[in-house]
Amino acid sequence: MPRPIQATIHLQALRDNVAVCRRAAPDARLWAVVKANAYGHGIERVFDGLRGADGIALLDLDEAVRVRKLGWRGPLLLLEGVFEQRDLELCSRLGLWHTVHCQEQIDMLATHKTNEPHRVFLKVNSGMNRLGFQPEQVRSAWTRLNALPQVDEISLMTHFSDADGPKGIAAQMAVFRQATDDLPGERTVSNSAATLRHSGSGLVSDWVRPGIATYGSAPDYPLHDAAHWGLQPTMTLAARIIATRTLAPGDTVGYGSLFTADKVMRIGVVACGYADGYPRVCPTGTPVLVDGVRCRTVGRVSMDMITVDLEPVPQAGMGSEVTLWGRAGNGAVLPIDEVAAAAGTVGYELMCALALRVPVVVAD
Ligand SMILES: *Cc1c(COP(=O)(O)O)cnc(C)c1O
Repeated sequence: MPRPIQATIHLQALRDNVAVCRRAAPDARLWAVVKANAYGHGIERVFDGLRGADGIALLDLDEAVRVRKLGWRGPLLLLEGVFEQRDLELCSRLGLWHTVHCQEQIDMLATHKTNEPHRVFLKVNSGMNRLGFQPEQVRSAWTRLNALPQVDEISLMTHFSDADGPKGIAAQMAVFRQATDDLPGERTVSNSAATLRHSGSGLVSDWVRPGIATYGSAPDYPLHDAAHWGLQPTMTLAARIIATRTLAPGDTVGYGSLFTADKVMRIGVVACGYADGYPRVCPTGTPVLVDGVRCRTVGRVSMDMITVDLEPVPQAGMGSEVTLWGRAGNGAVLPIDEVAAAAGTVGYELMCALALRVPVVVAD
């Protein structure tokens, strides 16, 4: 028998989450974001759940090739554009739309030989200060692009640093508007947090770009949780109990003896560790579901095992189901955001870090 651990990808949840994002921005078209191998889910695995999107956005040219191989003929957007000149050949061949965020990318386009003019997304730095033209450079970049025979339509784009937090998007939107107001072309500005939180506020986005929300994690946790937004988990990580033991008061558990029993207690040893993508930093008390019932971890996460307090589930034993995040067999949900918070990080990182050694199945 293989080691009892498995991840499950929930396609119907993915479709439902896309629908949640669409309802939040009903007039916009929707990019499904599949960078980082679909946030760790696997592009090939999620593809069927994302067919209803209007376009697919990603970073890596190899991922674009994979999406075309799956038969996707719709729009495909490279969110960081090209990295070197020859990437443009692939853009021509696969009909990729690409972001243009710096002069060097315009230089590459200007010397690119193609019969197929490209659709480009001119990126404005409205305050994130990673990629994009400074507001005062936007007009000249646009004029330069517009003069190139290699360029077809020019759209306008920016990215928010604080759509999930108290600072919000107003200041960045004002910068973006001022830099682009009299330029023609479609606009795309909204990530998940902006799509869910700010669409009603007169935000005009011809295309929205929700990533994390489609994968069932709340972009603004802990302010709101996934249930608040009507989002469902698209990834479950589950394992089984491979041993149980009873501790006496004073017994310690695991490396570093980080947990000491203060009474007689039963613990379960679970076939999941940091080599599976479960964060080693998760402290005692991190929530897990055993047979769908909420329990807590005790002691240090090791490479292949964690230990859990079985007090809430006296009937549990060898072979019992343990849900590390996602949906249990009885329907109970442990939001990935809760586990991420215990680890001091965000759901994004946990999904993306699912280890290769974990077998993955796709469910509808
Ligand atoms: C990753 C990314 C998104 C999606 O962000 P989420 O927070 O996952 O919704 C949108 N736009 C760009 C440019 C990105 O890189």
